[in-house]
Amino acid sequence: MNQIELEKIKKKALEEKIPIIMDDTLQVIDDLLRDKKPKKILEIGTAVGYSAICFSKYLARGGIIDTIEREETRVIEAKENIKKAEVEDKINILYGDAVELLPTLDGKYDVIFIDAAKGKYPFFLKEALRMLEKNGMIIADNVLYKGYVMSDYNKHKQRTAVRNLREFLQELKDNKNLEVEVLEVGDGLAIAKSK
Ligand code: SAH
Ligand code: MG
Repeated sequence: MNQIELEKIKKKALEEKIPIIMDDTLQVIDDLLRDKKPKKILEIGTAVGYSAICFSKYLARGGIIDTIEREETRVIEAKENIKKAEVEDKINILYGDAVELLPTLDGKYDVIFIDAAKGKYPFFLKEALRMLEKNGMIIADNVLYKGYVMSDYNKHKQRTAVRNLREFLQELKDNKNLEVEVLEVGDGLAIAKSK
């Protein structure tokens, strides 16, 4: 992977206010992936490919990341970025709405990273559980959503997202097959490991 290109991709994404993964969140995920050396990763929410490029260096030999993005312009930019970073053989972009695409997938994944529309997290979780490999791990970003999720303030215009994030976290915690941690890094990171 080309580290210099990666820095340029990050800088441009930040300038354009694309919500790429935050540094402290990335650090936590780096540690998890370094231990795990996944063979297959599924990412929901590619944006311009930044996180997928970062994760690609932890793949096991021959491993692959499937990543889903619904905005065409972002898919185009992500493809260019992945090429610049020299990781085309490790990242496969699926263009479309994850709500429609996920049910068509039937592979198993060692790590599933949820980082897309917050209102859809309960649905993404259901699909992720269906495709999670034994001893797999689900990681979800933005689960505390600027603190709204843990506060009783619910008149915000984003209340549907907040309600769905709360439902998502509850379902994770109620799932007897998962060991769950919610960290206050970045915008809130949930880590669920299958037992
Ligand atoms: N993981 C990226 C950031 C993703 S930002 C990184 O850290 O570099 C969230 C992305 O999810 C946006 O680009 C948005 O277009 C996409 N998205 C949101 N809802 C989606 C859906 N239902 N299906 C596919 N993509 C979606
Ligand atoms: Mg995010």
